[in-house]
Order: sequence, then structure tokens, then C-alpha cells
Amino acid sequence: MSTATATSSQPALLGGSAAITQSPGNLFTWPIITSEDEAAVLDVLRRGAMSGTDITQEFERKYAAWQGSRYALGHCNGTAALLGAYYGCGVGPGDEVICPSVTYWASATPAYALGATPVFAEIDSKTLCLDPADIEPRITKRTKAIVVVHYLAYPADMAPIMAIAKKHGIKVIEDVSHAQGGLYRGRRLGTFGDVSAASLMSGKSLPAGEAGMLTTDNLEIYERAVAFGHYERYVAEKIQTAYLKPWAGLPLGGVKHRMHQMSAAVGLVQLKYNDARCAEIRRAINRFWDMLEGVPGLRPHRTDPADPTTNMAGWYAAHGLYVPEELGGLSVTRFCEAVRAEGFPHCEAGFNCPLHTHPLFIDADVYGHGRPTRLAHSDRDVSQAPESLPRSVAAGFRTYSIPWFKHDQTDVIRQYADAYRKVAENADSLRQGDPGDPPRLGGWHFFRHR
Ligand SMILES: *Cc1c(COP(=O)(O)O)cnc(C)c1O
Repeated sequence: MSTATATSSQPALLGGSAAITQSPGNLFTWPIITSEDEAAVLDVLRRGAMSGTDITQEFERKYAAWQGSRYALGHCNGTAALLGAYYGCGVGPGDEVICPSVTYWASATPAYALGATPVFAEIDSKTLCLDPADIEPRITKRTKAIVVVHYLAYPADMAPIMAIAKKHGIKVIEDVSHAQGGLYRGRRLGTFGDVSAASLMSGKSLPAGEAGMLTTDNLEIYERAVAFGHYERYVAEKIQTAYLKPWAGLPLGGVKHRMHQMSAAVGLVQLKYNDARCAEIRRAINRFWDMLEGVPGLRPHRTDPADPTTNMAGWYAAHGLYVPEELGGLSVTRFCEAVRAEGFPHCEAGFNCPLHTHPLFIDADVYGHGRPTRLAHSDRDVSQAPESLPRSVAAGFRTYSIPWFKHDQTDVIRQYADAYRKVAENADSLRQGDPGDPPRLGGWHFFRHR
């Protein structure tokens, strides 16, 4: 398929015409809301059921069955679900939790609230997920849990991670906020660890508004999460974990984690269509990458599309890997600027800034200890210099966002692929005027939600 006729070979940034001429229409619109979502919300409103749990419990049952987990517990957001999961695993004062440095902060912040401290580990440069080889060196007698993030929808390598956790008697918390419903070796993500937590906020691949879901097969973890943030469901006759019975009805965590029923209602409708919608997203993004096969400097961040047992779920916040050495050192910053000029305004360099370089984990004294919380919560020096996790820092300079297609429309997708190819193939001319990358890339929020 020749693209030379469709696009000027001169980059738009240098005065050529833009590769993308078609309007995206609804190509990126998310969440997909229909009259069915609207009717479900109206029903909650009209029944005066906003603060109940009947719809939420139906959502929990269906979510658990869909994922293949025994218990699901609805939360007001993913951050709360993670806090419930941490507490469920018994994380408490003085404990350490191993977490990848490259993730959204809520993967690690529950440690603070519980008096524990996160210890950051490296990512694998290809998967961008926790590197199984960097876990064991960080385990101490204080380590209570490992947090695994299926980052940008790529399933983390759960088999070795679970083996390490088992060997050391440590719990595994899966943060599936980027990869709801995704598969790893034939099983849904969220079913490998001791407990999982997912954000279901509107930008995520399973959107319910503001909501989160905790899942587990472990009754004790489930009941601890109930006791922590769901006092109205913490009922003596129902709770089976003996040491939790005497406190039934008390808000043990002092927090309220209940899901809003308008969100639960949307979540129920979204869940029905999610597998089909995500399958279409995967077809579209795999098509985009197939069109870019062999282009220098650009590599897909994806699992093997021919392997039906492992997939990228709804391909949350899709990114690509960048190999500047193949483009004469063209900075990813310049690369993205040139793609934006081709007509895709959302091409950005980098992703989440690594947490071990984040002021919240270096400087902030959240609870008035008179020194950084990260250090105050530990009886050893857990500080981690930026250069101590070189791959986590370098990876931001080797990634860029790609279009997160929601529909498989070959013609438009080809225009976007042409844009990326054209920029890569013109690296030589774009190097003139390349300001280089800034010293830090990526933000605390790397992805804008409407
Ligand atoms: C979005 C997100 C969360 C937090 O979820 P909220 O619903 O926004 O509270 C946690 N972890 C990761 C990896 C996320 O992307």
C-alpha cells in the first residue's frame, strides 16, 4: 500500500502538508454511553436509591463472575479499592510494600495511610511492568506485599512474581486499573494475586464514572476490606473471620468507601459490552502497529497478537516504545512535536514520572513527623536516589503516546499510521532544530481526562 500519494513526504512541522486530514469523529470518544446507561442512571435517581447498595451488590456479583473471582467489593474509586486491598493484606505500621516506580501514585500511596512505606522496584523496559528479577533483592523481613501494575494494559509477568511471593510468604496486590478484563495465559488479570483493585473512573477501559472494585478469592481479605470501609455491611451475623466479629458495625478504617449507585448502574451496563468494545480496540491498535511494522525507531508496546491467551485488555492509554538510536538520536520530544503537527494533537512524550523521584515520596512530611513520611514510616533508610532505578527513569525518554482508537476504521487508522511513519522516516531533517529532551519527562498526570 503506497502512502506517498496520500501524504506529502515533507513533515508538516517543516512546512509539508499534514498526514491526517480526516476528522476523528467518534474514533476516540470514551466512555461509550448509550440510552441504556442513561436509563440505568435515571432508574437509580427516580427510586431514590443513590446511597443504597442493591445495584452495587448486583454489579459486584456480575463483576466477580466475569473476572473469575469469588468476591468483589465496590468502592467509591480505585484509590479507595487499593487502600482496602492493602488493609485486606494486613499492611500496617512499619511494613514495607514493593511497588514498581513507574505507575500512577495511588498504587503506592495507601502505604502512607497505613503507616507503611513503599519500596520502589524497576520495570522491564519492554513490558513497562514490574521486573520480576528486581523483587527478591528488595525483600526484607518487613516486606508485607508486592504491588503489581499491568501498566498501560500490558499484563505483568505473573508466573515468576507469584512464585517469588509464595516462596517468601508475601501477599500480592494486583492493580488492574489499566487492564480490566485482560488475559494472561488464559486467565483474567486480577485473579492471580491475593487481591486485586481496579479503578473504574470514566477514562479507564471499564468506565463506571468514579468507582473502584476490589476482588479476591480470600474471605479474610474480603472481610477485612469490608470492615475497613463498609461499616453498613460489617454485620456480626455475616462476618466469619473470628477476630473481626467483636468489632462488627464499627468503621475500622475510619473511612467510607461505598460506591455511588449511579456509578454502579453505569458499571453494570458497561460490563455487558466491555469485552466486545475492548476486542474492537485491540483490533484497531494491532492494525495500527501492523501498518508500522519495520519502521525504524518505533516498536509496539504490545503482547503477541497471535497469542489468544494473553492480551492488552482495552489498551488503556496506548503507548509505543521509542528507539532514538535508530533515528540518529532524534529526541522523543521532537518526535512527538512532529507527530502533533501531522494532525494528532495528543501525541506526548513519556508517561508517569517515576514515583521514586516524586516529591511526595522524597520530601513530603504528610503526618508531621518533622521528616519525610517515607523515612518516618521505616526504621531503616529506605531512600532511593533517582539514579538507583535507571531503567524506570530512562523509559520515559523512550515512550510516546499513540492514538487510543476505540473503533476499527481502517482508512482513518492508516492516516494516523502514516503520520508516525512520515515523522520517523524524516528523522534526519527533523534533527535540525531538535531542542532535545528536557531533563525530566512525563508528568504526575500523563493522561488527560475530559
Ligand atoms: C487510575 C488509577 C488508580 C486510581 O484510581 P482512581 O479511580 O482514580 O482513584 C490506581 N492505579 C492506577 C494504576 C491507575 O491508573
